[in-house]
Parts: sequence; structure tokens; C-alpha cells
Amino acid sequence: MSASIPIPFPLGESLWWTGYGSREEWVTCEECQGTCASVVVLANGETYSLACEACVSGYDPPRGIVKKTVRDFRPQTFIPKRVEVRGDEISYGAGPPNESCLSPVEASKLFSSLEECVEACVKLNEQSAIEEEKWRLNNLKHKKRDLAFSVHYWRGQAKRHRKDLEYAEARLHVCIEREKRAKEAIDSKREKKIEAHGLAAGADDGK
Ligand SMILES: [Zn+2]
Repeated sequence: MSASIPIPFPLGESLWWTGYGSREEWVTCEECQGTCASVVVLANGETYSLACEACVSGYDPPRGIVKKTVRDFRPQTFIPKRVEVRGDEISYGAGPPNESCLSPVEASKLFSSLEECVEACVKLNEQSAIEEEKWRLNNLKHKKRDLAFSVHYWRGQAKRHRKDLEYAEARLHVCIEREKRAKEAIDSKREKKIEAHGLAAGADDGK
């Protein structure tokens, strides 16, 4: 007795596939609007321009653009060249039988008619829009937490450096005072010497 599994599509037939569902695009950085700088205005009105951290990549300066993943399922033609059965899942490959670098496509993402494929794409796009919104909200929460940490960190740094600056200025003041006193001491010594000389000269004249 031989068992056979019916496959949904014969090899070599032109089908419609919902596609990868995502592609990457370069878009203008939302943080700096492409200017590569974040402008910070302090409470006292002072303005600082800092390099944008959102579009920086590694040690390179900010670029004003960021890579964004665009979620988009759209019908693509697909001609199955090989079939794979794993458990109860049937997948098709578009490459030759010995090609393993192209990932196989599940039969559930393939359709004989374009209308059915369009319908499936619309559903998948709706689903990924919901997931993206969830991800965006989560990301926003993280960002808020990161920003709160940054505010805490840089406020601490500013406080520390302000203290260092105060200390340095106090030390500078002490040094200036000391230098002044030392100079005064030297001057008064010199004056006394001149005076003494003068007296001695006067005594000589009186001889
Ligand atoms: Zn930027």
C-alpha cells in the first residue's frame, strides 16, 4: 500500500503570492527633520545645538535620514519549482530543486486567482498595521523611560560639573590672593631695602 499526499498546486503553474510583506526605505529623520541637530532651549533662554542621536549610525556623524521598514503585502507572481512537506505544512520553492538559499513559501500564502491574493494581502496588511501600532506604543513607552533616564543622568552630570566649576573658581581665587600677597611681600621687602640703602647713603653723605 502506498500513501500519497495531495499537493494544492501543481509545479510549474503560475500563481499569486502575498510577498515578503516588508521592504526597507530611507526616510527623513523625524527627530531632527533632516537637520542632523537637536536644538535644546534651556529655561534661561540659552540655546544649544547637539548632534541628533536618532539618525547617527555607529561612530559616523548623523545623516538626517533613517532606515524604515515599510510593511506592505502585495500580490507577486510565483511559479513553484519544488515542493516541500514538513509535518502537515506544505511549502513551495521558486528556485531549482537544489537551491536552498531562497526560503520556501507556505501554501497558505499562494493563490491561483489574483482576487483571492488581493483579499489575503488586505487582511495581512490590516494585521501588520495593528501589530505595528502595538510596537510603536511600546517603543514610545521605552523612549519615555530612556528620556527620563537621560534627564536624570545629565542633570546629575550638570550638578557635578557645576560643583567642580565652583571648586575650581574658589581654588583660583585663593591662588590669585596668594599671588597678590606674595607680590606685596616682595614689594614691601624691596621698599625696605631701598629705604635702608637710602638711610645708609644719607649717613655716608653726613660724613
Ligand atoms: Zn536626526
